[in-house]
Amino acid sequence: MKFVSPWIHTTEKCNLKCHYCYVHGKAVMPLTVYHNLGKLLLEMPTDNIHLRFAGGEPLLTFDIWKPFATSMLKHTGVTVEVLTNLIDVPESFWKFAELDNVNVSISIDNGLKVKMLDKKVVEKTSRLRNPWIMTTVTKENFKRLDIMAAFIGMNNYGWCLTTDYFEKTTPSWEELAVELFRTIKILKEFNYDFTRISFNNFSVKSGFSGCRAGDEMFAVACNGNIYKCQTLIGKPIKIGDVKHEYKRVATPVRELCKKCSIYGFCKGWCPLYHKVPNPICNVIKLFAKEIIEEVNIKEA
Ligand code: SF4
Ligand code: SF4
Repeated sequence: MKFVSPWIHTTEKCNLKCHYCYVHGKAVMPLTVYHNLGKLLLEMPTDNIHLRFAGGEPLLTFDIWKPFATSMLKHTGVTVEVLTNLIDVPESFWKFAELDNVNVSISIDNGLKVKMLDKKVVEKTSRLRNPWIMTTVTKENFKRLDIMAAFIGMNNYGWCLTTDYFEKTTPSWEELAVELFRTIKILKEFNYDFTRISFNNFSVKSGFSGCRAGDEMFAVACNGNIYKCQTLIGKPIKIGDVKHEYKRVATPVRELCKKCSIYGFCKGWCPLYHKVPNPICNVIKLFAKEIIEEVNIKEA
């Protein structure tokens, strides 16, 4: 195995109520699950372990998972990513975030009600070394991406944009494409490094694997059950648990994706929910054309 990357569902609790969130409940992952997960990972045939601490809001239970994360980081090849809204930050987290091999990804949508781009989140983000920003594009914020672009461009932050929930809204894909072009134009004004952006699973970053749900990537529920993907937690289709093993169930690449001009950069987006052909593929391709051109110009 080249790598293994569990999505660790530290808690179902959250301090926000995003309209699109799929997580409900109050469960918290107990210490025994971390203990068994650590054993399972260290026995796996790879030295490249990328731990993703998520939720809910993982900083609400930072004290519980910090000892596990710290002990895992002592092993060569272990990296940590914390996916947080950065609303309530325990003081001790700032020091942890400075450790080598720890990266923080912050959810900022610049929405009207949640995950707003306000002074507080800007100030907290600036305290972190090389953070990535994650933005879920919905009808609430898609016309406000220009402000996000200025924020990202000014700081050259990594930026991960997803439209997982756009399909369920009323604006058309054409309207989204217009806003994305505006966004790219603003980023160019800041001489942005486009190797640091992803749109759904499209990225020109070297070594990008695409989604490997059920194979190198899997999700661990608070009770220790293992699922292909975090969105399947609680459904009657677990593929293992941390006390034992999990059954690797890679999703085969779709024929249409294999023939796609940008397959090497998109890798088929979401194998679970994204059907092809799909109107979003055209938006991904337009976005890809702009980004690849820009990266090639810079490299020339
Ligand atoms: S067909 Fe769509 S999902 Fe598949 S690689 Fe192309 S853009 Fe990506
Ligand atoms: S299967 Fe889809 S929703 Fe699940 S991790 Fe992969 S891209 Fe995300």
